[in-house]
Amino acid sequence: MKETVPKENLLEYSSRYLRKVFTGFSSLIQGMDITIKYFLNPKTVITQQYPENRDTLKMFERFRGPLSMPHDENNENACTACGICEKACPNGSISVLSTKDLSGRKVLGKYVYRISQCAFCGLCVEACPFGAIAMTRDFELTVYDRNELTWVLNKPQNTSDTTQGEC
Ligand code: SF4
Ligand code: SF4
Repeated sequence: MKETVPKENLLEYSSRYLRKVFTGFSSLIQGMDITIKYFLNPKTVITQQYPENRDTLKMFERFRGPLSMPHDENNENACTACGICEKACPNGSISVLSTKDLSGRKVLGKYVYRISQCAFCGLCVEACPFGAIAMTRDFELTVYDRNELTWVLNKPQNTSDTTQGEC
């Protein structure tokens, strides 16, 4: 059986209309109130003004950016090429390519890191028994060429940033 929708009388319609007008007006006042408070007291503003604050912006302690391999003043790192981090990575983002030194000892050849596959989970850092890798707090990672998303971490550039030796 087809149900009939009861028709709204003029009084009900007017009342619903006025309620909506009142709600809209009230939310407008609330928004204006917040805007005026922030305008008069800018120190209370929580939103970061990026990129205007780029020079002073520091990411939070718990923020995890791309992987890095710290090098000392002699340009040496602590990686032994054991491959534990590679096995710990759930995304296959790491390839530890080992080689041998003059005495036949296994050493790190290339530490390949594919940032495009990285979930920034930090499992590799936790798994490394030598503290050879760390997460940075870098966040400006945009590139034009996807090939630039594969880095060799044990080949530091001639800068203070050791993370972005491209493969
Ligand atoms: S942070 Fe996670 S996803 Fe990224 S390389 Fe390490 S283990 Fe793999
Ligand atoms: S970074 Fe650590 S876990 Fe990974 S290969 Fe090097 S020493 Fe092993």
